[in-house]
Amino acid sequence: MTDAIRPQPGILDIALYEGGKSHVAGMQNAVKLSSNENPFGPSDRAKEAFQRTVHSLHRYPSTDHAPLRDAIAEVHGLDPARVICGVGSDEIITFLCQAYAGPKDEVVFTEHGFLMYRISALAVGATPVEVHERERTTDVDAILAACNRRTKLVFIANPNNPTGTMISVAEIERLAAGIPKQAILVLDGAYAEYVEGYDGGLSIVEARQNVVMTRTFSKIYGLGGLRIGWGYGPKAIIDVLNRIRGPFNLSTTQLEVAEAAVRDQDFVNRCRAENARMRHWLSVALAEVGVPSDTSMANFVLARFASEEEATACDAFLQSQGLIVRRVAGYKLPHCLRITVGDEASCRRVAHAVAQFKGVK
Ligand SMILES: *Cc1c(COP(=O)(O)O)cnc(C)c1O
Repeated sequence: MTDAIRPQPGILDIALYEGGKSHVAGMQNAVKLSSNENPFGPSDRAKEAFQRTVHSLHRYPSTDHAPLRDAIAEVHGLDPARVICGVGSDEIITFLCQAYAGPKDEVVFTEHGFLMYRISALAVGATPVEVHERERTTDVDAILAACNRRTKLVFIANPNNPTGTMISVAEIERLAAGIPKQAILVLDGAYAEYVEGYDGGLSIVEARQNVVMTRTFSKIYGLGGLRIGWGYGPKAIIDVLNRIRGPFNLSTTQLEVAEAAVRDQDFVNRCRAENARMRHWLSVALAEVGVPSDTSMANFVLARFASEEEATACDAFLQSQGLIVRRVAGYKLPHCLRITVGDEASCRRVAHAVAQFKGVK
């Protein structure tokens, strides 16, 4: 290849995103607890919708996503004109960076924040700015101190991945009020549905002109394989994002399955309750064998070990037992393992294996 052919600045600085492992060599029925997937899969109504779409695959999908936007708006009490749907919430994050950040602009996120914020910022030539957290929790003062006249976007996930911690609505309001006037605060609500009584920061989006919320069908809805997410924000921002959205970014199948899924809130409520029950059980079981974790508000537990070596050894032991969890060294947490809350049998297996590793059982 000739040296004259070069990608845009920033692109070669992107480290490839590594998903959670899904196989262990030589192991047939490994339990995957590495990608925060819903152990119960999608709801039956979503699966039925998937089957139905096979008959209309020759038709182009809708370009305005009106039926899905209406369903989301109805369920959450929103203005459908201010909902935008994408290929996972990842695509909404991409749109925000493409539309609002470029060379010499800064995109702010936290130390243990989602890796896609850095990737999306670098992809548009913007400068990623990483801010320290306080005890694995978003620190509003540190974020405000990192903002300046070049700041265009501030991303926080609440609850955060991979820490599971969250900050209060009052703290988010303080952040939204304190960022520079040319900046947008993005509230990534990938795990919002797991928090009883939390609206994902909706009240703040409604009250302000500088806040966008992103949500996903990949987590509690159990549809990570289908790739559907959405965003909600001020009309002016959503109009901008729609200009760069491909007209056919979502297939008929994605649109119809997501619509059926969001209308099945009984399923969501059952998953939330079961997750809370097993998450509590798992964190207590781990703590009893000397593996602490912060109080998680999401569908995983961040297990802390004494050292990187111990986390590495425990990960290897779990794999030998057919259990796949997530290393989070890429999130600057080399001494931790992120364990997705699975069904009861999986939680019992992983707790038992960690106890064996610690020599307790
Ligand atoms: C899983 C996750 C998402 C969801 O991404 P999709 O593209 O919707 O699958 C977004 N943000 C965070 C912090 C996540 O952990």
